[in-house]
Amino acid sequence: MLNVKSIAIDGPSGAGKSTLAKRLAEALGFRYVDTGAIYRTLGLMAFRKEVAPENASAVAELLYHQDIRLDYDKAGAQHMYLDGEDVTDEIRRPEVSRYASGVSAIPAVRNFLLSMQRDLAKMHNVIMDGRDIGTVVLPNADVKIFLTASQEDRARRRYEDLRTRGMDTPYEQVLADMIERDHRDSTRETAPLRQAEDAVLVDTTGQQPDESYAVLLEMIRRKLDA
Ligand code: C5P
Repeated sequence: MLNVKSIAIDGPSGAGKSTLAKRLAEALGFRYVDTGAIYRTLGLMAFRKEVAPENASAVAELLYHQDIRLDYDKAGAQHMYLDGEDVTDEIRRPEVSRYASGVSAIPAVRNFLLSMQRDLAKMHNVIMDGRDIGTVVLPNADVKIFLTASQEDRARRRYEDLRTRGMDTPYEQVLADMIERDHRDSTRETAPLRQAEDAVLVDTTGQQPDESYAVLLEMIRRKLDA
C-alpha cells in the first residue's frame, strides 16, 4: 500500500471548486481529479445516443458499450475521452450539465464510477472535487472541505466561466439551470450533495479567488502536517 494523501473538496456548482483545486494541486504537487468531468462525459454519452438521462436502464446499458477514459497531458491537465475522442471542451456545454446531473442520480452510474475514482486516489496524492467525495468516494480523506458561496456569486462565476469558453448563455438562464441542478444533486437518493460531518465549511461569498486560495492552502498545509 502506497503512502498517499487525499484531499476531498465538495460543494454546489459554481463554488469555485475546480479553479481552486487546480491551483492547490499545483502548489502541493498533488494530482487534480475533476470528478464532475467524468459525470459530464457520461452525460454527453447519453445526449449523443439520444437516451433520456432519467432512463436508468437504458443509461446503464450504455455504460457497457462505451469506452470512458480519463488521462493527463504533459502539463498535468485532465482530459476526458469518450470512445477515444477527446471531449474535454464539449462536456462544458450547458445541455451536457443537465444530462450529467440527470445520469448522476442513477445508482448504477455512481457504482460504475466509484472504483475508477478510488483507484486514482490509491496511486497518487490527489485533490479530488465533486459532490460526494468526502461522504462516499474517499470517506477517509486526510482533508475534507465543503466549499460554497451565495447563489448569486456562484451563478455569476458560472456565467463568466461559460463566456470565457465562448458560450453566451444569458445570466438568468445560468442561474435557473444552477438552481435546478443543485436541487436535483442535493435531493437524489444515492450519494446526494451534502457536507461530510468532518469537513470544514468554507464560504467564498464576496472573496477574490486569490483570497480563497490563500485560506485553503494554509488550512490544507496545516492539516497535512498535523
Ligand atoms: O462539478 P460539475 O458541475 O462539473 O458536475 C456536473 C454534474 O455531475 C453535477 O451537477 C452532479 O450532478 C454530477 N456530479 C456528481 N458527483 C460528483 C461530481 C459531479 O453527482 N462527485
